Amino acid sequence: MPRREVLTFPDPRLRLSSQPVEVFDAELAQLAEDLLDTMYAEPAIGLAAPQVNVQRRVLVMDVSETRTRPEVYVNPEVLTSARIGWIEERCMSVPGRSGLVRRATEVKIRAQTLAGEAFERRLTGLGAVCLLHELDHLEGRLFVDRLSWLGRLRFRAALALQTRRAA
Ligand code: ZN
Repeated sequence: MPRREVLTFPDPRLRLSSQPVEVFDAELAQLAEDLLDTMYAEPAIGLAAPQVNVQRRVLVMDVSETRTRPEVYVNPEVLTSARIGWIEERCMSVPGRSGLVRRATEVKIRAQTLAGEAFERRLTGLGAVCLLHELDHLEGRLFVDRLSWLGRLRFRAALALQTRRAA
């Protein structure tokens, strides 16, 4: 199945806001399938449509140990969140980097299936953190925006070093 090219930081297209999905058709199903294929190939635990340059509110994830529980969320929204913690995050769009980010580790969300059916779900731990990370992508936000000032300093220093090496 087709994998799609993932945009990487600092590509400005990662900063665009995504539009709600209104048509639940075969094209949407194909997008979700491609997102899952691209995510599993990495391997990563989540991927959002804007990372493959589709500015639609769709994200996929699989936080199971067996990598056999794909989840698809269309038009996801957070209803409630709780239990903030510091989480080490990575992102397919920021290859080779990680950083500590403050996130809720319990969320209740509402979303739609690929068929447009609304559902609500409670997510905890890695599931909550992953969903919130992917949700940020739909708003054009990256985990590096959420780093502490020290984390941002380290991130910039690492980038500068990388640029110097590449030059
Ligand atoms: Zn990401």
